[in-house]
Amino acid sequence: MYDIVIVGAGPAGLTAAIYARRASKSVLVLEAKAWGGQIINTPDIENYPVVAHISGADFANDLYNQAVALGAEVKLEKVTGVEDLGKAKLVRSTLAEYEAGAVILATGSENRKLGVDREQEFTGRGVSYCATCDGNFFRRKDVAVVGGGNTALEDALYLADLANKVYLIHRRDAFRGEETTVEQLRRKENVEIVYNATVTALLGEKRLSGVELTDKLSGEKRTLEVKGLFVAVGRIPENESFRALIQLDEAGYAVAGENCRTKVPGVFVAGDNRTKELRQLVTAAADGAVAATEAVKYLNA
Ligand code: NAP
Repeated sequence: MYDIVIVGAGPAGLTAAIYARRASKSVLVLEAKAWGGQIINTPDIENYPVVAHISGADFANDLYNQAVALGAEVKLEKVTGVEDLGKAKLVRSTLAEYEAGAVILATGSENRKLGVDREQEFTGRGVSYCATCDGNFFRRKDVAVVGGGNTALEDALYLADLANKVYLIHRRDAFRGEETTVEQLRRKENVEIVYNATVTALLGEKRLSGVELTDKLSGEKRTLEVKGLFVAVGRIPENESFRALIQLDEAGYAVAGENCRTKVPGVFVAGDNRTKELRQLVTAAADGAVAATEAVKYLNA
């Protein structure tokens, strides 16, 4: 039996592991994909205090090494559910079952799909959800980015330096992301911003060769001949495995306040899958610290 099982090895989960180990608790971190979470796809982090520039991959590696050096055990196993046995919690993964005194759910979020026909078929064949992972395949080609948040803006900026031409397609006439990035994009000669438009069809035979856009105001259709479509339309919290255990809000976020406590004693939630105002690296790390500290208090009570 572990004192604390942490589900998810992103910035929230690994920070929780550091805090829990420093409080001398035994810690197992279970991660379904790769440690680091979504931050590994960020080429350059510029908004984490003290560190002016660091790649997401380096950040993730340093954080992982710090947690492991302090004695956290990390296993690559997908958690399929958590059961409340009262004092103990039973954590089920695809490979094993673990008992814990407390559980911290730090599963983060996954890419939202655009919801257009043939999206699945073209994924990996022109449709991508990660500009920094796949942008290199589209050097000197025409590509499109869809979305209006910071991810879409940053993806478009990143791709502008690689691709021949970048269309940035947004369904409204005002971006949700930061104005400074929009300004940077406006200064790029090879970026064309298409407002009030939605992607209504994906074109091509075996690979994507174009997208059909529909103007929201006039209903007019237009085809963009692009080899790549980068979908950046937000993220969905990864809480479905815990629906029977904890309370989720309408959008699927785990309901918990700033103390990261759920309604179930001994079950805590940290990071992007929690109800909160600001989802950033720094707030994910902060949640990890809070959730671990609360879990330690719970175990010591
Ligand atoms: P987001 O802020 O939720 O933006 C999603 C965008 O996709 C919105 O503009 C939305 O349009 C659009 N959208 C949603 N569904 C769509 C659909 N079916 N078709 C077309 N467009 C659709 O998501 P995000 O950009 O992934 O960012 C997530 C969080 O991470 C945000 O808090 C963001 O600030 C943060 N982030 C921060 C940084 C940074 O600080 N450097 C970098 C990346 C992300 P509407 O605007 O019309 O709703």
